[in-house]
Amino acid sequence: MELLSNTRASSEKRRVALVTLFFTCVIGLIAGLVFTAVINMRDQADHIDDARASRAVTAAIRSFQARISSTVRDNAVWDDAFKNIGSADAANWVYQNWGKTSEDYPLYDVVVVLTPNRTILGAFKKGAEFNAASDFGQSLTQLAARASTSGKRPVTAFVPTAEGIYLVSAGAIRPFSDNPPEGTLSTLFFAKRLTPEVIGQLDDTFDIGGLRITASPDRHLLSMPLLGDSGRAVAYLEWPRRTPGSQTFDGVYRSLLLAGVLFISFILAIIATAVAIIRSLQRDAVSATFRATHDGLTGLLNRAGLLDGIDTAKISSGEQPALALIDLDGFKEVNDAWGHAIGDELIKLVAQRLKENLPHARMICRLGGDEFALVDDANDIGANSAALIQALHEPFRIGGRTIEVGASIGTALFPSDNPDGFELLRRADMALYEAKESGRGRVVNYRTALDFQRHQRTEMEAKLRLAIDRREVRPAFQPLVDAKTGSLRGVEALARWTPETGPVSPDVFIAVAERAGLIDELGRQIVEMAVEVVSPWNNVGLSINVSPVQLRNPDFAALVQTILDAKQFDPNRLTLEITEGVLMSNPEQAKRTIARLKAIGVKFALDDFGCGYASIGALREFGFDRMKVDRSLVTALKDKKGAGVLSATLSLAKALDIPVTAEGVETQEQADILTRSGCDQLQGYLVGRPMGSKQVEEAFLNSIASRQRRATANKRKQTG
Ligand code: C2E
Ligand code: CA
Ligand code: CA
Repeated sequence: MELLSNTRASSEKRRVALVTLFFTCVIGLIAGLVFTAVINMRDQADHIDDARASRAVTAAIRSFQARISSTVRDNAVWDDAFKNIGSADAANWVYQNWGKTSEDYPLYDVVVVLTPNRTILGAFKKGAEFNAASDFGQSLTQLAARASTSGKRPVTAFVPTAEGIYLVSAGAIRPFSDNPPEGTLSTLFFAKRLTPEVIGQLDDTFDIGGLRITASPDRHLLSMPLLGDSGRAVAYLEWPRRTPGSQTFDGVYRSLLLAGVLFISFILAIIATAVAIIRSLQRDAVSATFRATHDGLTGLLNRAGLLDGIDTAKISSGEQPALALIDLDGFKEVNDAWGHAIGDELIKLVAQRLKENLPHARMICRLGGDEFALVDDANDIGANSAALIQALHEPFRIGGRTIEVGASIGTALFPSDNPDGFELLRRADMALYEAKESGRGRVVNYRTALDFQRHQRTEMEAKLRLAIDRREVRPAFQPLVDAKTGSLRGVEALARWTPETGPVSPDVFIAVAERAGLIDELGRQIVEMAVEVVSPWNNVGLSINVSPVQLRNPDFAALVQTILDAKQFDPNRLTLEITEGVLMSNPEQAKRTIARLKAIGVKFALDDFGCGYASIGALREFGFDRMKVDRSLVTALKDKKGAGVLSATLSLAKALDIPVTAEGVETQEQADILTRSGCDQLQGYLVGRPMGSKQVEEAFLNSIASRQRRATANKRKQTG
């Protein structure tokens, strides 16, 4: 049971842990996904904007290039220009048409014209002549070479100068429709310096924001190379990133952070709850295990705890374990006399005394009721058991009362041939049974012979049950005679059982019947049969033995009354013989039964008087009609001491004013002494052994009948 609750608790713990783990993982995963999605969106938005800005810058440069290049084309592919460049007034023509306009023309601020053999025909910057060769160096001739081979389409390139970067466009000056031979054409250059204002205009027009020119770009900014004639970067345009994603992200960052904190708190709360649940499950399991294996009243281990412990003791190395079962003697009487509260208190004190006396015992348990168990090393169990018998014999004090009990102990060594806790318990139980049967207050060690005895007992039980079913147990009758006249007063019915193996003493089979719960039925049959037999014997009394077990049965009185009614047997003729045992166990029920039967006239005799310890008060309380002096007292008459005990016993009866029958009278001498001492009835082999009804009739009744017949005849004679 404990194992079961343990596995249940641990599987529950596992389940809670798994569910929590799963839940936490799923939530964590979802949170992770949401977070990466947000980060991705941020980066993606930034990236998209970066690309847009790059495209805008590219478009700005292209449009800038396209504008200057189409202006060069318009001016270079021009019949007038071609004609005038070849004239003597060429230099003046260049100044008049282009040099002058460079002063304030928005599309270019430098104009250069190279002759076909690449000498400068004219060079103007902002309307004034300047030294183009020193400012622009080799790039002019290189561009002129490219322009000469590109037809009507001008070429452009960014050119670094001491002043700054210029966008230069070059086109061959040629007539619109003719195609003059290569090497005969002059070249027109327009150039526009990339001043901060120019860059600013581009920036505005293309909505870039913060565009500027630089020689080497900053890693953290976006940039685009400005390519020179050779195709290499001569400078860079750079501008800051807008990062709309990051900006949006920054806007929601606090909320996200708060959500994250809440989220982590939530998960922590879940984990904390799960841990609390697991802890409480653990605590529950521990306390359930404790409850399953311990006795509530004493806190000692219980039967389940003992069996668990035996299993552990079995596997743990060390000395061979042994078990002692301890049963209190007289506990039931304490419970009956003082009530259950005192009984419980006594059990607690016994547990305490066991612990005090056996501080080093391997295990001390309470198996229930008044039964305890001790597991110890095989070598110690004998000595410890003997010590316990002593210890438990010492009186207990409870609320001003002094209570004495005793103990019987059965011990068994751990069976090496059959290593099982139940078998160990069974063996110790067998030994305990024997200890109680053989007189209580002793220690009996298990031996295989006990198994055999038990077997015989159960066999006898079965046989007796069958015999009772078949009404084979029948009464014999022993005469009870008047001590003075010797005439028959009554008979005592004594149960007789003779199976084919030979007669069994009632001392044996009555005890078996009591143990096996057969005594009520057996007692009923004896009363029925005896009443049936004795009924026709006018005026002869009938004594029947009743065991304490029968008297405890609340139906007993009604049962006797029913039989008497059925047989129309005068209750005044019936005496029930009971022993002192009745006074000990459940006296209240016994008193009720006795009172009810006495009310209809049934009499009660105290059997085996003189060998017990009944107090005078108790005897008076029960209102016995007769006492039967025990045979042992009669036998003891031989010596002086015995005679003293007998006369003391008889004077007690006299004081109580109760008539006395002497049992077991075997000699005339005994009969004489007993009669003189005041016994008014005798019973024993001297008078007659227990016998069949026929024998009673022949030996006693016929003589009575013949005497009566004679007496009536005499009377008739006298009267007649
Ligand atoms: P008890 O009631 O004391 O019965 C008297 C016993 O003494 C009988 O033994 C009887 O045979 C024996 N006895 C009588 N006179 C003499 C004598 O002069 N010398 C010797 N040595 N013995 C004598 P028994 O029949 O073996 O019965 C033993 C006990 O069994 C009885 O003791 C009684 O307590 C019990 N018993 C017998 N029959 C019944 C019964 O029907 N119901 C119950 N509950 N108990 C019964
Ligand atoms: Ca008797
Ligand atoms: Ca007796």
